[in-house]
Amino acid sequence: MSEVTTVSAPDADEFTLLHRVQAPEGEGREILDAATREVIGRAPVRTITDLDEAVTRAKAAQPAWEERGHEERSALLLKAADAIDAHAEELARLLSREQGKPLNGPNARFEVGGCAAWLRASATTPLQPEVVVDDGETHAELHYRAVGVVGAIGPWNWPLMITIWQIGPALRMGNTVVVKPSENTPLSVLALLSVLNEVLPADVLTGVPGDGAVGARLASHPDVGKVMFTGSTATGRKIVEGSAGNFARLTLELGGNDAGIVLPGADPRAIAQDLFWGAFINTGQTCAALKRLYVHDSIYEDVVSALRDVAAEMPMGNGLDEKNVLGPLQNQQQFDIVSRLVEEARANGGRIVTGGAPAPELGELFYPVTLVADVTDGVAIVDEEQFGPVLPIVRYTDVEDAITSANRLDVGLGASVWGDRDEARKVAFRLQAGTVWINSHGGVHPMAPFGGVKGSGYGLEFGVEGLKSVAVPLVING
Ligand code: NDP
Repeated sequence: MSEVTTVSAPDADEFTLLHRVQAPEGEGREILDAATREVIGRAPVRTITDLDEAVTRAKAAQPAWEERGHEERSALLLKAADAIDAHAEELARLLSREQGKPLNGPNARFEVGGCAAWLRASATTPLQPEVVVDDGETHAELHYRAVGVVGAIGPWNWPLMITIWQIGPALRMGNTVVVKPSENTPLSVLALLSVLNEVLPADVLTGVPGDGAVGARLASHPDVGKVMFTGSTATGRKIVEGSAGNFARLTLELGGNDAGIVLPGADPRAIAQDLFWGAFINTGQTCAALKRLYVHDSIYEDVVSALRDVAAEMPMGNGLDEKNVLGPLQNQQQFDIVSRLVEEARANGGRIVTGGAPAPELGELFYPVTLVADVTDGVAIVDEEQFGPVLPIVRYTDVEDAITSANRLDVGLGASVWGDRDEARKVAFRLQAGTVWINSHGGVHPMAPFGGVKGSGYGLEFGVEGLKSVAVPLVING
């Protein structure tokens, strides 16, 4: 782990976006830099009345937006992606400070670049009507059109990327969108929306920063026809309950506890780097990160030591320091969860291979990369989502047991299998998860559908399936 060094001075434009979106002097809620805990700005605080007004305006703006047609909307969304590129460094720096993720590594600059890439994919993915029956007697076509107003409720871990995942397809399909960002990362989301609104017509895309009650109102609002939600399983459950009132269609991307299975015969040194980033991308604060690793007894110690060696090379610290690739936990709540789980693991016989205690010398919310060996199913660090820089490593001798372990929890977002590709594919088909990666973990692609099973939610994002999920079908028969 590195020491904190001097970070680069902000450039003159860095605070332009911040000033555009933050609350007027003396108003709003203080937002802290995740690494230094200094105030970086003040988030506006909106109420349920503000939310209702935003939905009313979005509803009024929707028909004209839909009437523009796919071609015109696509052209505007491509311009919006260019606007993200034009503000990329400002967005990345604000994101880095508010969320904590470093500029470099698979972090803030990567996230902002991903926003532009995903928006372009949403803008250009073709979605043609399908002729579903044409047998001489019946001619039936399946068309897709806008739902109306879409509500987008997002988390704090990948706040910009997930916002784009939620709003890009929705806008492309002719919906207008109201966004409720997480209270932990409102400024960077509002900055992103402000950049997109340099291009989009008024009221097509609105951000309403507020608390959970504002989110609950958005999800259950009678004029909202679709809710895109990413966050905890507990909140997802409340949104399902709320949807009994408005019959909103839902896409729920909830928490996970992704298992990885390393098969006998895998090469520990060859896979260590990819295992590391599968688990520790965004300092472990990623829904589809590798959160429990099952390793065959024959190579167990070799995998543990290869991972330890990779971890030792990864600098952690202030995100604005160009050399860092790991940052702090974003908030105190998450820091406390991680600390508790490591302490419980230690008390239950877990062997701390590296890390294992907070790193206050780096800052209040820093927790070093922690590898916990010799733990078993049933210990909290294995059974609960840690959502931080900690990886439990469980030993197995029979691959059947590893499959049973991987499937035994009530969540199923992702999973991975490491080793011979053919063997790994056989195991993959037996895992209960929305995505199973072979010899990697967590990589997403704008054309590959993404979504969970069991308590990790339902509905697909990305690609053609993602466009369909923010549309209502219309069958023309005759
Ligand atoms: P939450 O589910 O509490 O928050 C996600 C979003 O939902 C936030 O914008 C939040 O607003 C909003 N919200 C809160 N209550 C309601 C409600 N009743 N109706 C509608 N929206 C609501 O997640 P947290 O951020 O608190 O994180 C808790 C846990 O969730 C983490 O420890 C992690 O396990 C998991 N998580 C999973 C993520 C993923 O990508 N799948 C991302 C982040 C967290 P507000 O911020 O104002 O409370």
